Amino acid sequence: MATLEVRGLKKLFGAQTAVDDISHLFADGEITAVVGPSGSGKTTTLWMIAGLTAPDAGAVLIDGIDVTSRRAEQREIGMVFQSYALFPHLSVRENVEFGLRVRGLEKGARRSRALEALQLVRMDAFADRRVTSLSGGEQQRVALARALAFRPRVLLMDEPLSALDARLREDVRLELAQLLSTVKITTVYVTHDQTEAMALGARLLVLESGRVAQAGSPAEVYRRPATPFVADFLGAANLLEGVCGSGEPRLLTLPFAELELPRDTAPGPCRVMIRPEDLVLTTNGSAQFHANVVSSLFLGRQLRLVLEVGEQRLVMDASPDTVFYPRAEIGVRIRPDRVVVFPAGPQPNPGRMNR
Ligand code: ATP
Repeated sequence: MATLEVRGLKKLFGAQTAVDDISHLFADGEITAVVGPSGSGKTTTLWMIAGLTAPDAGAVLIDGIDVTSRRAEQREIGMVFQSYALFPHLSVRENVEFGLRVRGLEKGARRSRALEALQLVRMDAFADRRVTSLSGGEQQRVALARALAFRPRVLLMDEPLSALDARLREDVRLELAQLLSTVKITTVYVTHDQTEAMALGARLLVLESGRVAQAGSPAEVYRRPATPFVADFLGAANLLEGVCGSGEPRLLTLPFAELELPRDTAPGPCRVMIRPEDLVLTTNGSAQFHANVVSSLFLGRQLRLVLEVGEQRLVMDASPDTVFYPRAEIGVRIRPDRVVVFPAGPQPNPGRMNR
């Protein structure tokens, strides 16, 4: 295990800044998911850590030692790519041994290390199979075994599940989470999929336009996003315009409701985030506002409703057992402790709102 740190990393491609002053300390033995929309600089950051792309500024440190000028193979970093990059003409074991041969290990040591790595990913029974006869999930485990076989200090994974179909992806994600928690290796896991990032990452590093938009645990980033961009990227969010009063208690005025905020908030115009699950259907007279149901979508675990209140459209989750008639009027309560208030006006790091 090892700590990994990037300090002020910067990369330009021509006039375009792909990575713009990224600093972060990746905790020892933890999985950090680097997440962000397409083009936000995830892969470029990973490649600079790996030593496959030279930064224009900044440094990469492993256990406090500056490795920026070291070549990739001198950094003791394992990599798993989206394509797996396995050799189709070699067996599972030969694929895992390949990297060890390149590193000059003699035959006996290669064998035992390869077997050990295959046991770790529960693929030892497949050692003599051709990789082409394996499923996508199994190939992915072989790629992981190959990366782990030389006992790297840091593991980098770039969208390792993106070649799998949606159903398999979910299964392999669970399995991978289990495997990586056994291995306890400092891992940087790049994905554009926020569900995958939250499921796998003990910590998230959210990138936007080549910069760090927020770093924190999945719960922190989901519940207390630093900007409307992070709020929107990390799941469904109602983003609304509001005004915070200056009195005590602080009153937040939304176009359709007024609520008391539990925390100190700067007075004046603001932007407000409310997640769909934090709007609660109520029938006992405690409604803060009434809205009409425009549509409802059955998602298995919940119903996702689109509501209309005046000019405003809101997304709300409800129990899948509830039946809503079109245009039905319902009473809604807002969970005030879950409301996130952002200052109005341009954010420090404006960016795309795509997902
Ligand atoms: P994706 O999820 O689509 O892979 P990403 O977040 O990994 O995106 P990067 O691949 O790091 O983003 O790219 C960041 C920016 O740098 C993008 O605008 C991309 O077009 C640009 N870029 C990346 N590599 C090169 C290159 N070799 N030459 C020119 N521009 C590049």
